[in-house]
Amino acid sequence: MKILKRLLPFARPLHHFLPEYVIYTLFGILFGVLNISLLIPVLQLLFAQDPDIPASLPESGFSLSYARDYFNYQFYTITQEQGKFMALLFVCIFIMFGILLANLFRYLAVRVLLRFRLKVMEGLRNTLYEKFMQQSLSFHHNHPKGELIQTITGEVQEIDSNVVTPAQVLIRDPLMVIAYFIVLFFWSPQLTLFTLIFLPITGIVITLLTQRLRKMTYYSQELQSRILSFTEESLGGIKQIQSFVAEKIMGQKFRAVNHDLVKQGKQIQNKKELASPISEVIGVIAAVSLVMFGGYLILNGKSGELTGPKFIAYIAMYTQVIPPLKALSQTFSSLQRGVVACEKYFSFIDTPVAVTNPEKPVAKKDFTTAISLENISFRYDQKDVLKKINLTIPKGKTVALVGQSGSGKSTLVDLIARFYDVQEGAVKLDGVNVKDVSLQDLRSLIGVVSQESFLFNDSVYNNILMGNQDANAAEVEDAARVANAHSFIEQMEEGYATSTGERGVKLSGGQRQRVSIARAVLKNAPILILDEATSALDTESEKLVQEALNKLLTNRTSIIIAHRLSTVRHADEIIVMHEGEIRERGTHEELLQQGGIYRKLVDMQEIS
Ligand code: ADP
Ligand code: MG
Repeated sequence: MKILKRLLPFARPLHHFLPEYVIYTLFGILFGVLNISLLIPVLQLLFAQDPDIPASLPESGFSLSYARDYFNYQFYTITQEQGKFMALLFVCIFIMFGILLANLFRYLAVRVLLRFRLKVMEGLRNTLYEKFMQQSLSFHHNHPKGELIQTITGEVQEIDSNVVTPAQVLIRDPLMVIAYFIVLFFWSPQLTLFTLIFLPITGIVITLLTQRLRKMTYYSQELQSRILSFTEESLGGIKQIQSFVAEKIMGQKFRAVNHDLVKQGKQIQNKKELASPISEVIGVIAAVSLVMFGGYLILNGKSGELTGPKFIAYIAMYTQVIPPLKALSQTFSSLQRGVVACEKYFSFIDTPVAVTNPEKPVAKKDFTTAISLENISFRYDQKDVLKKINLTIPKGKTVALVGQSGSGKSTLVDLIARFYDVQEGAVKLDGVNVKDVSLQDLRSLIGVVSQESFLFNDSVYNNILMGNQDANAAEVEDAARVANAHSFIEQMEEGYATSTGERGVKLSGGQRQRVSIARAVLKNAPILILDEATSALDTESEKLVQEALNKLLTNRTSIIIAHRLSTVRHADEIIVMHEGEIRERGTHEELLQQGGIYRKLVDMQEIS
């Protein structure tokens, strides 16, 4: 339950909601009570009973009996002067207004509550999204997207319906119960004492029964998150699924997960629904006992002031006490479910961010001398992916990384931009450890173009603009020109405003790549990392892209990972990686002469 307290900051400032809510609620209750009380004169009229007429208008004061006497006096005057039907009309109009006002105030209270709920949810989602954005890549590789989406939508919804909304019950319903009991007590202390003994007993029985049921309902949103993950993944890989004609198999897998979800939902719902009829039956038993007891008192003349019409009003009021009491008992069990959702939510909030900003970052707005990797080692889980790498990349030079797939090239460049932190050794920029530089500064200095050019489902223009949010239209266009993208963008239907589709599916691979190069051009970072930027392209578009890249590379410090060795032969230094180690290094000519791994790779590519 302690965890629920952590929601409080999201509800602040409470004084924006609480006083308003309490005032509306109090008025709502007041008029609700009034309306039931007005049943008495109506019934008295219909059953031709005289109201309790005070001899004269009572001394003014502020009490229930004054209000009653005042009303009765006026009411009696009307029956005398204008007839009983007019009196009935008078009460009915009163009731109509009462109901109107009671509902108006309830509505106003609900509006305040809604404002409150939406604000809390908005805050919860914003905070979680920001957390997701900060989390390092390793976090994201370990958590399926569906799980994260489920948390930011489903769990937040659960918190709303099981904690935030029920929170109002804790304020409203005790007030209601107290108000009803004051009036009940005023009408008949005898009966009310009886209900005060009886009600807790039925309350306890109902709570025990429903709790037993709820204990069996194993609450879990895990299956939902599995459905989300599965659907998300399938939609992402729809082309692969269709090309492997795997629709049937995927459909079967989906059915299995979906069936589990339905089965579990059925069990939970069945048990939930059972709770309501049971408590209904017990509630009716309680009401019937009350009728028997009250009837006994009246029929035997032991009821004092309590007459037939009053007794009916009494029962009507009494039935109003039960729903809030029920709601209160349900609130506690829904809070328990809310705790589960909160635990899930806050487990993400509490996951420490693996790659964080230093406490006192060193200002680093430019790159002056060199990038150096000093004796670095790195592993994702257990296995060493990089082993004691030493490498210096002086400003203005181009260093190429080659080597078989899985040798750790991408990992190495990810360490420079701090997508991961090294476990041993240090990555330094002009002699400053990258861990001491703010992430914003560091990443502003580095431009990356990788094999998988990721475009957002937005206009081409906005996709390029991501490189530099402050750029104007002319600069965006210039960047596109440098990237050999301008002419094809102009030929598209809506030019720069054309949408790229999800992940850029509406563009060809080469076009996508050139848009992402334009993005890097616009960013104009002094350090450039190309991770197999042309590997996925055909020869034709590779030429265009390569040309664009060459323009981008001028006057920059760059690290190029390339599969095709022809693209790196002019690099200042070529690093040959093998199983996380540097095996050979030198210029193209030097490495050819050495006749080692590089030589073999070159020979193989020349044959093919
Ligand atoms: P390259 O770019 O040279 O092909 P990578 O740097 O991508 O190689 O990968 C190096 C090794 O690290 C591989 O053995 C790969 O399986 C492993 N690896 C890469 N990314 C992850 C990850 N997120 N979690 C665990 N292991 C990974
Ligand atoms: Mg790679």
